[in-house]
Amino acid sequence: MIQFYNTLEQAKSLNFEEDKLLWSLDKDGKFKVKAAYKMLNISTETKEWWPWKMIWKGKIPHKVACFIWLVASQAVLTQDNLMKRGRQLCSRCFFCETEIETVNHLFLHCKVTRKLWQWFINLRVIGWAMPRYTSEVLACWNRDGNQSKHKERWKIVPACIRWTIWKERNQRCFENKSIPFQSIKMNCLATFYFWCIHYVPKDIGEITLFLDSL
Ligand SMILES: [Zn+2]
Repeated sequence: MIQFYNTLEQAKSLNFEEDKLLWSLDKDGKFKVKAAYKMLNISTETKEWWPWKMIWKGKIPHKVACFIWLVASQAVLTQDNLMKRGRQLCSRCFFCETEIETVNHLFLHCKVTRKLWQWFINLRVIGWAMPRYTSEVLACWNRDGNQSKHKERWKIVPACIRWTIWKERNQRCFENKSIPFQSIKMNCLATFYFWCIHYVPKDIGEITLFLDSL
């Protein structure tokens, strides 16, 4: 018994306060969005580096920036993520219909998505190796686009591809409607042009000259 009281005595922090919930990621125990954001980013594959500036400072609509953050965080609700949450699915990519739908497959490696990336890459005639993860693309893309006369426009392209693919994927998933690749490409180009007019309007010119300028 004496030993028990001695042990209690050593625990100086014990008091008669009621138990309460404390946010363990901060010293004062209070929840902070900054700490939560940092923790969420650490749970992704790229632990050392995170493209926050490229996501949040991009010249794209805010709702698209939120979506791009989900894609880079591997948190967008593709079939693999739904299965991790307990949904029973027979996962198949809605585009190629041969691979399992994962975030990295849908937005980077699917043969349909790759054709869109390749189309923009061909405009600049640059060498390009597709990274493994969605979070790595922005750094590679922006590095290669640094030589561009209109690098602000070049930086819009990844978001534009992902947004186009996601919209078409949802059409196929929820409305059972699909359009051919040429139409997907035109949708992507139209979205890109519209965002450029809105966010980087300087010297926009005709669309062919504008694409040449990339
Ligand atoms: Zn696919």
